[in-house]
Amino acid sequence: MTHPSFATHEVFNQSPPFEDVDLFTVDQPLVDAVAAHGGAAAGTELFEFGQHWGSAAMAARGRIANENTPKLRTFDARGVRRDEVEFHPAYHELMARSAHAGLHNSTWTAEGRPAGGAAEVVRAAKFYMAAQVEAGHLCPITMTRASVAALAVQPDLLAQTMPLIATRAYDPGFAPWWTKRGMTLGMGMTEKQGGTDVRSNMTRAISDGDAYRITGHKWFMSAPMCDAFLVLAQADEGLTCFFMPRFAPDGSVNAIQFQRLKDKLGNRSNASSEVEFVGAYGMRVGDEGKGIRTIIQMVQLTRQDCAIASAGLMRSGLAHALHHARHRSVFQKHLADQPLMQAVLSDMALHVEASIALVMRLCRAFDLAPDDANEAAYMRLLTPAIKYWVCKSAPGFLYEAMECLGGNGYVEEGILARHYRESPVNAIWEGSGNVMCLDVLRALSREAEAAQAVLQHLAAEARGLPGAGEAVAFIGKAFGRPDSERVARLAVEKLALLAAAAALNRVSPHHAELFGRTRLAQDHAAMYGAVDFATGDIRGLLERALP
Ligand SMILES: Cc1cc2nc3c(=O)[nH]c(=O)nc-3n(C[C@H](O)[C@H](O)[C@H](O)COP(=O)(O)OP(=O)(O)OC[C@H]3O[C@@H](n4cnc5c(N)ncnc54)[C@H](O)[C@@H]3O)c2cc1C
Repeated sequence: MTHPSFATHEVFNQSPPFEDVDLFTVDQPLVDAVAAHGGAAAGTELFEFGQHWGSAAMAARGRIANENTPKLRTFDARGVRRDEVEFHPAYHELMARSAHAGLHNSTWTAEGRPAGGAAEVVRAAKFYMAAQVEAGHLCPITMTRASVAALAVQPDLLAQTMPLIATRAYDPGFAPWWTKRGMTLGMGMTEKQGGTDVRSNMTRAISDGDAYRITGHKWFMSAPMCDAFLVLAQADEGLTCFFMPRFAPDGSVNAIQFQRLKDKLGNRSNASSEVEFVGAYGMRVGDEGKGIRTIIQMVQLTRQDCAIASAGLMRSGLAHALHHARHRSVFQKHLADQPLMQAVLSDMALHVEASIALVMRLCRAFDLAPDDANEAAYMRLLTPAIKYWVCKSAPGFLYEAMECLGGNGYVEEGILARHYRESPVNAIWEGSGNVMCLDVLRALSREAEAAQAVLQHLAAEARGLPGAGEAVAFIGKAFGRPDSERVARLAVEKLALLAAAAALNRVSPHHAELFGRTRLAQDHAAMYGAVDFATGDIRGLLERALP
């Protein structure tokens, strides 16, 4: 008996998968921003990275790692504590590829000093591309890289751990860190009663010989299979930073007991635990009572990574939207040729081009800061402002990108639904929006002279762009008000926009002009595409975004 055929129709007018593309070369704004900030010599390395991460195989790993979420194994069959989290092999593969490319360490020398040159810029380009494929696994990658800045205040500990952090091997085995081929580090600061206000931490550290015994809880502690965590706890002299390894020096499993894993909106390939320390072994990092000072450099680096990753998510949204619009016809005409869709896509392309120019400008400041006081001041003032603006713009942007694909954008087979669910987290963790605004105010008041010099420099770089003069005046006035905290969001957003215009002016002056016209001289409309760009400008923006 013959079965009826299910092939009732031919599938056509669907865009092919946006895979097996070189994520670097197709992204002219990225290529130009890297070159503008000293990274041109790494072109081949970045091309190879972009080709690998843009492959269909890597896209599949990203999807599988998010569909098969990590599982907490609290006890074994006999009721003995295990406190292990199991990840799908696809997650381990992503970790191994990121480690192989040095995303967790390439901004440091083997001794843990800033690598210099364009190390920050080159790594940021890779981080930006990796975020386009899978962002969850970047959490332990970024924490490992940032932890070196905190360990630097405890040179003996840095000297012991750096040989392992500096390798490009990823070793997922559950074993004492000193027996492994490479190691990862996480952070435990947030408690139930406070994440922003870590001074309210209740976790207690009692001195025990050369080390400490730590008892308490953490309400969020991500990537729980890291080999060690930097943990804040109250010691006799006040809040202090500790290095808490998964295994105690005698080789026994440290008393780090996971209660459960968070059920999160996005970021699902990454595990985030609730955890209790039951007299867990820890070593002091920095002086007692100096916990916040110890972690502050580290937090700058994770904030920088939040901005890079959010820019990467938006870039991916733009690339998928543009790719789809060039293949999909509606009313006998490709979407990419419909004037209204062109307005939407070009306005989005301008936002991404400005975001990557700004993020790379910031990374250049991180590269130069150790030897250049002005760049160090730029870094301190602009890191929170850039994290604020870039990260908070991502969810709205990704929603619009999704809509460009119509119904296909909303389903889980595509990557945009995942990006959309991922996008709010970078604004929330590592200092939420208001906290970033308060941080800008703090930098302005603590280092008033250096901060004023940065503002003057930005004004000079943006001079002549539409709205730049008014923006400079607005920022000066708003930050000068006695109630500046109340208007901090207004002022910080304007500061980020001015910095973005200045950064874009170095890379693509004509697009900086368009940016000034639509974002500085007037408030940008709530929706993308509510702009009036000339046909040539639309073509220029979209050709640069994706040839
Ligand atoms: C997926 C995920 C993973 C995480 N992983 C980790 C981890 O590995 N380690 C870790 O330590 N933490 C982690 N966190 C916690 C995260 O860092 C905190 O949630 C964050 O710092 C905010 O703290 P909170 O949740 O206590 O909110 P709160 O501090 O209560 O803040 C709530 C809101 O109030 C605002 N606010 C705070 N102070 C002020 C003020 N003075 N004026 C005006 N507004 C203010 C904030 O901007 C925020 O919007 C994770 C969080 C998430 C979502």
